Amino acid sequence: MRFGIRALFLLLITFSAASCANIGRFGQIMNPEELDKDQLKKLPAETTPEYGFRVGLEIKVPGHEDEILENVDHQFTEFSECFNITDRGEEARRYTIAVVNGTFRCEYHHGRCNGEYDSDYGLIIVSYKAFNRRGILPVLKHEWAHVYGILRGDHKNLKEVRECTGY
Ligand SMILES: [Zn+2]
Repeated sequence: MRFGIRALFLLLITFSAASCANIGRFGQIMNPEELDKDQLKKLPAETTPEYGFRVGLEIKVPGHEDEILENVDHQFTEFSECFNITDRGEEARRYTIAVVNGTFRCEYHHGRCNGEYDSDYGLIIVSYKAFNRRGILPVLKHEWAHVYGILRGDHKNLKEVRECTGY
């Protein structure tokens, strides 16, 4: 019994020590959602008012669409000011932002992600909310930093960019 609790504790430590975009709401950590990228591409997409990003919401995302679209624009303003990006979102507009409910299965971060960008699919996938992460779409700036080539794929420079990306 004692060993069981210790093992669970170690497991939790492992989850919280894992860096970056991988931590989701607790139940979803244990059971991350399996995504179908072809389906995500087919989600009806709305366009954000300021930068014209396409955003599709998975049906079970609880937030209001207008709130999410405004949040995306607001986050991009902060992101571009912080990194001195002046393209008004041109690079990021090539991607459709697919908003999913929570932590999902992926090939990185021990198979649990809250954000992923896939250039083959033209998709940025982000969780609406994530455990231990502030706000909605908490890892969107992190994924944009990948898109703009600011953040390395191996995250070796994550410390330097985190001031601007949050996570
Ligand atoms: Zn990353």
